[in-house]
Amino acid sequence: MKIISKIPSYKKSLISKKKVVAYKPLNFSHKEWKKYISARNSLILKSEILIKPRSANFFKVKAGQFFRINITSGSQVGDLNLFNLKNLNEKFFSGKTRALYGTHLTTKDRLWSCFPYFRPMATITHDTLDWYGYDADGASVHDVIGTRCDPYTNLLLNKNIYHHCCHSNILNSLIKISGLKKKEAEKLVHDVLNVFMCTGFTNDTKQYFMKASPARVGDYLEFRAEIDLLGVLSACPGGDCSSSHSSDIAECYPLKVNIYDSNSPLNKKIDKSLLSKFR
Ligand SMILES: [Zn+2]
Repeated sequence: MKIISKIPSYKKSLISKKKVVAYKPLNFSHKEWKKYISARNSLILKSEILIKPRSANFFKVKAGQFFRINITSGSQVGDLNLFNLKNLNEKFFSGKTRALYGTHLTTKDRLWSCFPYFRPMATITHDTLDWYGYDADGASVHDVIGTRCDPYTNLLLNKNIYHHCCHSNILNSLIKISGLKKKEAEKLVHDVLNVFMCTGFTNDTKQYFMKASPARVGDYLEFRAEIDLLGVLSACPGGDCSSSHSSDIAECYPLKVNIYDSNSPLNKKIDKSLLSKFR
């Protein structure tokens, strides 16, 4: 960073102030989390949805159902949008979710919806990549930092038009399911959860970086739907995002979404108080 302003004499005292974490951690009580464990131990597969490489597909999940995003045949990043199935204006709020939990999500973290709705849309109930933690570069998996690859930024930086960016894939899928015109549907596409993507900020310039996803065949990220959901998932043209995106260069693989019922009686007893707090 090039310094052009005069450094004040009191700089040292200012930058040595203590850090204050901006939001209190949202912890589950042991009793409440036990209900989630019981519920996810009694899952019955109801349906499967395939997401082809460099394309998106949608899926519907009822409140209380579980869904898993699966790596099926090769390391692949997925860009996820979530909506209230009955009101598409209620959508995933990546920024506030990041403020509450940090830059990367894992088990017990929740995906919150935008204002004025602001309630948990889904809870992450299992993450087979939780072992990755934060590596020496400060990178981790499943970020809420990146927005999604899109044709506008690609045109700005690379001077070419690419039609299979996650933004376009999600938009096309949303148009298909909602029947909305492109102009209306595009307003609803929002910042994503980058499933399986391995990312961080560089130490020196704090730039967003990506590195090869550690996800392998058999890995999955599992959620409990807290409200009726419409999910739209894009299999990113960046593949495992080890080198590029917004092009046909990377090797890409499909993703699969499995949807489950739970036959545990405790699944119905999961506390809904947060869900209606601001209704
Ligand atoms: Zn993408």
